[in-house]
Amino acid sequence: MAQRFALMIAPADAADDRADFRDTFTPMDVTAPALSVGELSTQRGDGVFESIGVVDGHANEVEAHVQRLAHSARLCDLPAPNLAQWRQAIEVVAAQAPAGEAVVKLILSRGVEHGPAPTAWATVAAAPDFRAVRRNGITVVTLDRGYDLGAGERAPWLLLGAKTLSYAVNMAALREARRRGADDAIFVTRDGYVLEAPTASLIIRAGGDFLTPAPAGGILHGTTQLSVFEYLESHGRTTRYETLTASDLTKADAAWLVSSIRLAAPITAVDGAPLASDPDLTAELNTFLLSPR
Ligand code: PLP
Repeated sequence: MAQRFALMIAPADAADDRADFRDTFTPMDVTAPALSVGELSTQRGDGVFESIGVVDGHANEVEAHVQRLAHSARLCDLPAPNLAQWRQAIEVVAAQAPAGEAVVKLILSRGVEHGPAPTAWATVAAAPDFRAVRRNGITVVTLDRGYDLGAGERAPWLLLGAKTLSYAVNMAALREARRRGADDAIFVTRDGYVLEAPTASLIIRAGGDFLTPAPAGGILHGTTQLSVFEYLESHGRTTRYETLTASDLTKADAAWLVSSIRLAAPITAVDGAPLASDPDLTAELNTFLLSPR
């Protein structure tokens, strides 16, 4: 199989109910230029995306990802994506995935400046090797997000619940975490509530229950967090959405950052203070997350 594969997609109208969209897909040469200089995703980060974990050719949680793509598009006033077309595009690119772990990316951009339609494409490539991180864990620092918990609802134009292509802030936060000697960051609101990491959701265990910050607080609703909660509930554990303070995190019995490609990474320290972890449960969660879902 190819190490990388890309498909340009001519976005179909959401109401187009044909059974086969293959004639809207054009395989691309991944080593050749593909986008116009007027492309608004590159000029302004004006678009939305998804990253989907693929294990031995099987794309995980496809439905949750296409639904979130549609949600992000709605928040950004982009034309509604045709979900049947995107499901088929995922199937076509995942079939080209290298063996082992891979990542499918879906990109829906506003399109070319003054152009008539959005630009869309899907790619697949081998995923980084996160096995050691899943086993050994990550250290995190808390970083000020610069707004309070109500900002998401008060200022929807900040697009806090959308997975937009404007990730420069998230990447800057990761660099700041590394400058401070940590592996990752957790954003904290001005009023002291923990939110999420730049590319992952936070789950903590407190008194035997599993808690995550409510998405209404202006964070992305993670597909991996949803899967982990379903798994835990089906194994008799209690899960809840809550507003969590920074001290809830430092007092947690265990905590994880979860996301589609790295999966469950146990947090071993917060702002330099060690945090307890549960290696058996972490291994169990990652076994589940690596299984076809
Ligand atoms: N929060 C943010 C800001 C993210 O970028 C991501 C994933 O990239 C997540 C949470 C986790 O989402 P998922 O589990 O769907 O990968």
